[in-house]
Amino acid sequence: MKSQTEPVKLIIKNGWVICPVCGKGKILKINPDTSVHHLPRPCKRCGQETIVNIEAPEPASKETSA
Ligand SMILES: [Zn+2]
Repeated sequence: MKSQTEPVKLIIKNGWVICPVCGKGKILKINPDTSVHHLPRPCKRCGQETIVNIEAPEPASKETSA
């Protein structure tokens, strides 16, 4: 068995996670508040599987007009 692939630095562009292998394939659509934990996503362009790991963003405090 191969050792687990380490999560790579992901490129996020226009709400899409971009394949870090070819840099062109969109592998997962995300929202600003999306959190993904080690989700394997295959790239349709290059066929490489990338582990998507997106931590939940810090909850932003709501703006209140003072
Ligand atoms: Zn790719």
